Amino acid sequence: MATATTIPIKPGRLFIGGKWADAASGKTFSTINPATGEALTTLAEADERDADAAVAAARKAFESGPWPEMSASDRGRLLWRIGDLIDKYNEEVGTLETLDNGKPIFESRQVDMPMVAEVFRYYAGWATKIHGETAPVKGPYLNYTLREPIGVVAAIVPWNFPLLLASWKVAPALAAGNTVVLKPAPWTSLTALRLAEICQEAGLPEGVLNVVTGSTRELGRALVRHAGVDKIAFTGSTATGQEIMRESAATVKRVTLELGGKSANIVFADADLDAAVRGATIGIFYGKGEVCAAGSRLLVEKKIKDEFMQKLVERAKKMHPGDPLDPKTRFGALVSSEQMNKVLGYIEKGKAEGAQLVAGGERAHLGNGKGLFLQPTVFDGVSNEMTIAREEIFGPVLAVIEFTDVEEALRAANNNPYGLAAAVWTRDVAKAHRVARRLQAGTVWINTYNNYDPAAAFGGYKMSGYGRELSMHALEHYTELKSVWVNLS
Ligand code: NAD
Repeated sequence: MATATTIPIKPGRLFIGGKWADAASGKTFSTINPATGEALTTLAEADERDADAAVAAARKAFESGPWPEMSASDRGRLLWRIGDLIDKYNEEVGTLETLDNGKPIFESRQVDMPMVAEVFRYYAGWATKIHGETAPVKGPYLNYTLREPIGVVAAIVPWNFPLLLASWKVAPALAAGNTVVLKPAPWTSLTALRLAEICQEAGLPEGVLNVVTGSTRELGRALVRHAGVDKIAFTGSTATGQEIMRESAATVKRVTLELGGKSANIVFADADLDAAVRGATIGIFYGKGEVCAAGSRLLVEKKIKDEFMQKLVERAKKMHPGDPLDPKTRFGALVSSEQMNKVLGYIEKGKAEGAQLVAGGERAHLGNGKGLFLQPTVFDGVSNEMTIAREEIFGPVLAVIEFTDVEEALRAANNNPYGLAAAVWTRDVAKAHRVARRLQAGTVWINTYNNYDPAAAFGGYKMSGYGRELSMHALEHYTELKSVWVNLS
């Protein structure tokens, strides 16, 4: 690797009740740089006992101390400060994210971290705007509502946008006055721990944010089963989301689930083809394809298919994996060998089921040869029934499906268990909006792909989950609504 970093990486400890601690077991596990295969540092291996301690600290901070007494505007000020500190430490936090995840430093520093800061500032503004209403009830009564925080929120996040997805949960939870136990994914815990330090520096009272790390699924399970946790805010795979639904039933927890996707990116013959080609490549290769909303099913109208594929394949072949720390790199390393093997397995499955491999499909070797690099991969001649068109690969593998008219495109797009996102490329404005209405997806992009903003709601239809993140709508999932009656007679 050409570039190196001098960012210090400390061994990770648990952040509970405003204090740093080793795991109760004393055990640790390693976190690896996927671009080099080298260990970055060790992290505390939390178990059920540490989950208990973190939940107890969050409960205490929710019920007593400065947090429940704090005015909404002071909470807002704190969140704003956290956002500003994320900006201040952009280089350091962005570098940690890239080292841990393998994503290009361009993405970490210029896309993820600025949005993390914006998410905190966006919800800083909401802190003073969360309020109840009066209802026009019959009789000599006054009825009003109170929007109250739910209590202790367990935020469980995956490894693809580690700090960004944590911010989507932590910021609205805190804006509404909850306390949080954050559990990052085992492979990418470093920025969650750095967030804890930043919150401390911003002046967040102890116990309001707690961070626990662990290498097994048991830690997440302990939080989901814990009677002291009031709400689970989860982003991850659909299989884990289903388990969380089952496990949380015993305590009737509030649950929101942001799950997998297999998003359809539809290119009509009347589209600006060059723009659509760019959109298709960004849609699948941004974030190495480890993006829940990746446009992994590309539906192309038959009339322009040959011309489109020629441009697309040319573009895909020009994209080469590079050192994630190099600012010019746009395509980094996959997150783990487990994920690499899963993606390679799908590539073999695509070939075996008769899809035509037209770009990539192989590992790429660079640097010390131990990095987890894969060539951007494109399959043509895919049918919507093939495994690579039905299942979420979560890697840089594009399945191209041909269609002849709008109805066929819509049938194929909606014929999938997931419903996270979709996109439409056409110059016909009316057609674009008609198709957008009929797509079963929580987000639809028209002549663009992969836009996100704290003000825009994000979430899934069907097996992509329920609840919405970002926007004012997320706040509904972090508050309880109390109805109060007053006898006026
Ligand atoms: P995962 O479900 O394996 O793990 C996600 C998180 O849950 C991790 O922190 C993990 O340790 C924890 N976990 C695992 N088992 C658990 C259990 N039984 N109980 C509680 N917690 C448990 O997912 P992943 O591989 O880390 O992430 C990839 C998945 O996340 C993909 O399916 C992707 O589509 C999805 N994702 C969705 C969105 C969205 O907004 N819809 C965003 C990003 C990623």
